[in-house]
Amino acid sequence: MKVSEFRFDEHLAFKPEQGRILFKDQRMVMMSADSFGTLLKEIIDIGGVNMARVFMRRFGETAGRNDARTIKNTLSPDTDIDWLALGPMIHSWEGIVRAVPEEINIDRDTGKFYMKGTWEDSFFAEQYLKHYGKSKDPVCWLLTGYATGYTSEFFGKKLIAKEPTCKGKGDDLCRFEITPEG
Ligand SMILES: [Zn+2]
Repeated sequence: MKVSEFRFDEHLAFKPEQGRILFKDQRMVMMSADSFGTLLKEIIDIGGVNMARVFMRRFGETAGRNDARTIKNTLSPDTDIDWLALGPMIHSWEGIVRAVPEEINIDRDTGKFYMKGTWEDSFFAEQYLKHYGKSKDPVCWLLTGYATGYTSEFFGKKLIAKEPTCKGKGDDLCRFEITPEG
């Protein structure tokens, strides 16, 4: 499978008679962005921003790792780059954000990994802004967690995604950058 040929809707099975949506062997759930935003607000109000950041990053990382594994095991990406680029692609299909990679520079032999791009229309920034207004720091923790999880699973080493700019703190666009840890 080439990344350009991927259509998420062709790989989803809606089974209302079982109360399930399946992406291959992964059970998926669909809920409104506003309900998720309410959960986010509750977590921040009760536990504070630092705890919410940790929760959301871990949650996103698990989702990213699971998607990377499902894609590798069931869709047989043609090349390494197809597998990697399917991460931002599926993130877009899942309605999280429009993820557009701009640069990918990797070498498995030397452990070199660099990837950057833009996140347009992040639902997470939208929900944060709705409840709290502009933040001092980047807020798309679920997205950086997902990018961290997906690419770390892909590369077989711990990588870290960061957000140099974020709409949640008043920038024009969210931008991501992924590098090895440390
Ligand atoms: Zn952001």
